[in-house]
Amino acid sequence: MYIDTHVHLNDERFKDRLEEIISEAEEAGVSRFICVGYNLQTSQEALKIASEKPQVYASLGFHPTEIKGLQEKDYLWLEEMAQNEKVLAIGECGFDFHWETTTKEEQYEAFVRQIAIAKKIKKPLIIHCRDAMQLTLEVLISQNAREVGGVMHSYSGSKEMAPLFIKENFMIGIGGPVTFLNAKAPKEVVASIDENYLLSETDAPYLAPHPYRGKENRPVYIPLIVAKMAELRGTDQTILAKTIMNNARKLFKI
Ligand SMILES: [Zn+2]
Repeated sequence: MYIDTHVHLNDERFKDRLEEIISEAEEAGVSRFICVGYNLQTSQEALKIASEKPQVYASLGFHPTEIKGLQEKDYLWLEEMAQNEKVLAIGECGFDFHWETTTKEEQYEAFVRQIAIAKKIKKPLIIHCRDAMQLTLEVLISQNAREVGGVMHSYSGSKEMAPLFIKENFMIGIGGPVTFLNAKAPKEVVASIDENYLLSETDAPYLAPHPYRGKENRPVYIPLIVAKMAELRGTDQTILAKTIMNNARKLFKI
């Protein structure tokens, strides 16, 4: 009944424990997983895992810090592979100005290319956005990304900005940070937006929720995240989980 809409089952750390990671999550009620690629190799790996496991889907794309040296053939590969029926989305792509491994221009070019691919093959986008909320919104608008929509993964913007992304046909992905004791913005976001635009995600192995903050994250923790979301909204956890599953089905056409 739960879904993890953003998990890196393709991470090196999970390689030899995949069965165990998935089955412990399933025992906790997590029945669907979207395994997200962030470069060529992890996108290939995501597709491989999704092809082998019926409950796992893939998203393929190039993260803004992973775009150095990408060639035309890599984008062609992305466009071709993303048409596989187990691939639900393009991404994670977007902007990340926290790390200075790639320039703003390089990130812009790679992002726009991936939005164009998503529109061409008619699949939604999984957006990574760090320290670039306003610019990301502007690019989504200027590229008419609303045609396919998507999710603002691990949304870290304000509650004032969230409705602006929703207006552009983007859902709001909520993960571990909403459970952090000192978190303010993600809690305000969850409490204030329309529940029909909320998605749950772990971003595992990163961003483990409280009380596992700083440790390895795994999809088994999804119920902790949804429990916190339900508490913030003053609603029932099971009902909210159902709403989130419906949102995911609608967006990703599962
Ligand atoms: Zn991620």
